[in-house]
Amino acid sequence: MDLSFTPEEQKFREEIRAWVKDNLPQDISHKVHNALELTRDDMQRWARILGKKGWLGYGWPVEFGGPGWTAVQKHLFEEETALAGAPRIVPFGPVMVAPVIQAFGNAEQHKRFLPGIASGEVWWSQGYSEPGSGSDLASLKTRAERKGDKYIVNGQKTWTTLGQYGEWIFCLVRTSSEGKPQTGISFLLIDMKSPGVTVRPIKLMDGGHEVNEVFFDNVEVPAENLIGEENKGWTYAKHLLSHERTNIADANRAKRELERLKRIAKREGLWASTGGDSYAQRFRDEIAKLEVEVIALEMLVLRVLSAATSGKNSLDIAGLLKIRGSEIQQRYSELMMLAGGPFALPLIREAMAAGWQGDFPGGHPELAPLATTYFNMRKTTIYGGSNEVQRNIVAQTVLG
Ligand SMILES: Cc1cc2nc3c(=O)[nH]c(=O)nc-3n(C[C@H](O)[C@H](O)[C@H](O)COP(=O)(O)OP(=O)(O)OC[C@H]3O[C@@H](n4cnc5c(N)ncnc54)[C@H](O)[C@@H]3O)c2cc1C
Repeated sequence: MDLSFTPEEQKFREEIRAWVKDNLPQDISHKVHNALELTRDDMQRWARILGKKGWLGYGWPVEFGGPGWTAVQKHLFEEETALAGAPRIVPFGPVMVAPVIQAFGNAEQHKRFLPGIASGEVWWSQGYSEPGSGSDLASLKTRAERKGDKYIVNGQKTWTTLGQYGEWIFCLVRTSSEGKPQTGISFLLIDMKSPGVTVRPIKLMDGGHEVNEVFFDNVEVPAENLIGEENKGWTYAKHLLSHERTNIADANRAKRELERLKRIAKREGLWASTGGDSYAQRFRDEIAKLEVEVIALEMLVLRVLSAATSGKNSLDIAGLLKIRGSEIQQRYSELMMLAGGPFALPLIREAMAAGWQGDFPGGHPELAPLATTYFNMRKTTIYGGSNEVQRNIVAQTVLG
């Protein structure tokens, strides 16, 4: 397998790099490089900049207004933006629901929903999970009853990431109780400003407000917001999940965080390759092991992308990618904590804000947000389908 890029691809990489250098706001890249908290404005500002260039939907085909890039070009774009310190694109619109609308929506829905996603103007949320229906997603109970030209929606979604900013939410809803649970599910687009929608925050152990509960109380949804056919939503949902899990692996972020880990290790005196400090040498070994895993993850990402372009179903390998990517994310957050030692221990939520000037005696300020990041990273083996469940899927594929 030839893993080197062609001269055209190298040129493409340089063009992306130059554009990002000129267009990525420095205050945003500073926050990303230091894993500080991004506000709604930060995320939306970057989305709009990309949208104006036509790159927010960077994975989209030309017919839907995307750049029509190859798998390698998409990879290079993701790598260059991540290494430059660009925020991850909030995936719910451009990466998750847009491919479903493109593949299964009608022409009217393309016209109505895709422009707002491509420009970064409209914030989408994902309404899949419910209390009691996470891993066993097909057991979901939120009901949508057809009444004339509307659906009446009642029920609850949970763990809705950044739902406090959501303007639209794509939901899996139950439209039939007959047959297997999977055959009674539909895919509905709901305006979160509709009467009867309530969003309540869930506080996480890192102290942040990243997820929410969303309640639907007799919410009226025009039937024209149904994607594809009624009771076929499970098929569309699976199409979306392969995009979600590939995205969650985030190999490029891992590369950037690896550099941050090295920076912290050097400053904390844990980088010596010779001499008597065996702890430093062992720590370097751990970083080297992680680096090998990050490179292996990158190769896996390229395989998934090429499977997707050759038309093969990439869901199974996407599960594998999700497992490895999430474990790597947890590992680098653990090694950063170890490098910081006792200075990394206090959980100082406020230190996530750029320019924090709080009391932090003895330690370098870069260590102050580490505990929050560490706790936040515990989520990665749960969301997007827990790793245990991903292992089941991979095992079924391999072992039958
Ligand atoms: C931070 C965060 C953000 C999220 N964002 C969103 C979002 O925006 N939208 C959305 O719809 N959902 C979101 N989720 C929900 C996420 O997809 C679910 O949490 C996940 O699918 C697990 O479901 P659960 O929480 O109900 O756990 P459960 O399904 O109750 O699982 C509990 C435990 O049992 C294990 N388990 C369950 N079934 C099996 C099995 N068959 N074999 C082996 N082990 C099993 C699981 O691995 C887990 O360890 C988010 C979750 C988190 C934590």
